[in-house]
Amino acid sequence: MSELFARRMGTVHRSFIREILKVTADPEIISFAGGLPNPDLFPLESMDRASREVFANIGASALQYSTTEGDAGLRTIIAERYAKRGLSVSPDSILITTGSQQILDIVAKVFLDKGDKVVIERPGYLGAIQAFSIFEPEFVAISLESDGPDLAELEQALQQGAKCFYAVPNFQNPSGVSYSLEKRKAVAKLMDTYDALFIEDDPYGELRFMGEDLPSVYSFREKPGILCGSFSKIAAPGFRIGWVVAESPFYEKLVIAKQASDLHTSTVAQAIMRRYLETNDIESHVGLIKERYGRQRQHMVDMIQQHFPSVVNITEPEGGMFLWAALPEGVSSMDLFDIAIKDKVAFVPGRPFYVDGTGENTFRLNFSNSDEQKIEEGIKRLGSSISTLLD
Ligand code: PMP
Repeated sequence: MSELFARRMGTVHRSFIREILKVTADPEIISFAGGLPNPDLFPLESMDRASREVFANIGASALQYSTTEGDAGLRTIIAERYAKRGLSVSPDSILITTGSQQILDIVAKVFLDKGDKVVIERPGYLGAIQAFSIFEPEFVAISLESDGPDLAELEQALQQGAKCFYAVPNFQNPSGVSYSLEKRKAVAKLMDTYDALFIEDDPYGELRFMGEDLPSVYSFREKPGILCGSFSKIAAPGFRIGWVVAESPFYEKLVIAKQASDLHTSTVAQAIMRRYLETNDIESHVGLIKERYGRQRQHMVDMIQQHFPSVVNITEPEGGMFLWAALPEGVSSMDLFDIAIKDKVAFVPGRPFYVDGTGENTFRLNFSNSDEQKIEEGIKRLGSSISTLLD
């Protein structure tokens, strides 16, 4: 019956990471593979209280259909939080979405025709590659350096007619790389010059545990852009609440695409999130997350320096949830994966993050979801797997 499928599904595969997560379900495996926030830090009691207050205060309307744009109070809080970080946006230019993942789907629906050129970082976020692939664009991969994209490659792609650039400028998934201030400004300028769309995905921006916060690329644009945010990493992903900031006429089209997709994001989830934000200090909660992840990141870096052969290079991210490792050229992280699974430790091989099929020697490590003891043991095991592979 496979002839029943639309042609576009031929180019899309199940998320490689979700497949890996099945292998790592074995409780003896220490997994640095998932991209999960640390569940110890979910605000369980406050959410429990907020949900009871929602039902007591607004009753059945929490269970009713609601507007596509999203809860007005929640959008106002999001705008106020941006204002505190120096970005002025109107609540009317915020659209609540079902996770920020949904934005990638609706953005693709609104902007991508088959064959359109889409610039993406190399490595790039797998969820975006998957969401966009359904619309059959032509990906143009540009190198990601330690301070952001290779600007010459970006300009060349734009000269050759690329329509948009999707990027994660803060603590990127998968590499942990962040754009420098200079590159943020330069990217904004290039996107303005070529009248191209910049899709700025920022679920990790608030999780900076060292260095200085930097303004979004969006804030440097003279022409309209798209800025995506999410409560998944600063509160809890199970709510599936994200948002997109976009001006007219992008905003209206995104609303139409979302309406066609799910009418609106869960009313009750939005009501509870709003109540939580109104009655709790999320900034101090984010502070706790940063403090914990910062320690875990430092421990992972220290352990890698002790236990990995020195030929392995890593990024040392200033925030977020991931760091990125590179084996010597020509050594395959898939081969390492096979050895590591036998040694009961897991990670995500890098290749699926490269739309051009390179990246064979790279891999991603998650530090948010393991305590320091697990990090120590897991990195020791992985160091020994790497030594076995290189012997
Ligand atoms: N963008 C990036 C870069 C991500 O890493 C993730 C989560 N893995 C998402 C978007 C989706 O997050 P959510 O839908 O939970 O907001």
